[in-house]
Amino acid sequence: MLLNLTPGLTEELGILYEDMEKAYDAVAEVLGHGCDGCPDNCCDSYFLHHTYIEWAYLWEGVAALPDKDREALLSRAKAYELEAQKLIGRGERPRIMCPVNQDGRCSLYKHRLMVCRTHGVPASMTRPDGQQLRFPGCFRCQDLVEGQGLAENEIPLMERTDLLKRLVLLEHELLSGKRHLVPKVKRTIASMLISGPPDLPHCSDRPTRP
Ligand code: SF4
Ligand code: SF4
Repeated sequence: MLLNLTPGLTEELGILYEDMEKAYDAVAEVLGHGCDGCPDNCCDSYFLHHTYIEWAYLWEGVAALPDKDREALLSRAKAYELEAQKLIGRGERPRIMCPVNQDGRCSLYKHRLMVCRTHGVPASMTRPDGQQLRFPGCFRCQDLVEGQGLAENEIPLMERTDLLKRLVLLEHELLSGKRHLVPKVKRTIASMLISGPPDLPHCSDRPTRP
């Protein structure tokens, strides 16, 4: 079954993504953090952990592109995967610019994934088993924190726990409560583009939301 989002799920994921942005911006503002002029670009990070709902939402953005742009994007995605597999075959971790990035900017900004919206600022999260995790943020943010001489308990943090829980609930709804039965999404963004919108043949019930 092709996992198309219902309008209700699209709307709620959009609201969740906005809330992620607000939480990120609040911490970035306190620290004076921004990406302008950064000598690095995180869009070349190799990351494989996503969700079906984000994949489907990404494809809503892809589907809305003019044909020419979509074809160019998919061709970049294929080139990305070929190069990534070559590097992996040599035992190297790929560091290749995301095919969605054009001239340093995300060409599907509204549809970018959670990882794209959370990386950068210091963050914290409580895992379901109660373990607390802390993320220091990107190298630039770590420099800022160090430069400001902040003690551990003074560092502002983006709290990810509730945001993640909301994402999991939406994922659960999209998968009609069968999240535990389907394989995890362990793919690059390029792979999600090449494969088309997510398709789970054995997940046949539709979500209840209109
Ligand atoms: S998040 Fe940090 S490393 Fe990434 S582009 Fe922004 S400033 Fe640079
Ligand atoms: S989807 Fe956009 S923000 Fe995310 S890695 Fe690709 S270009 Fe960067």
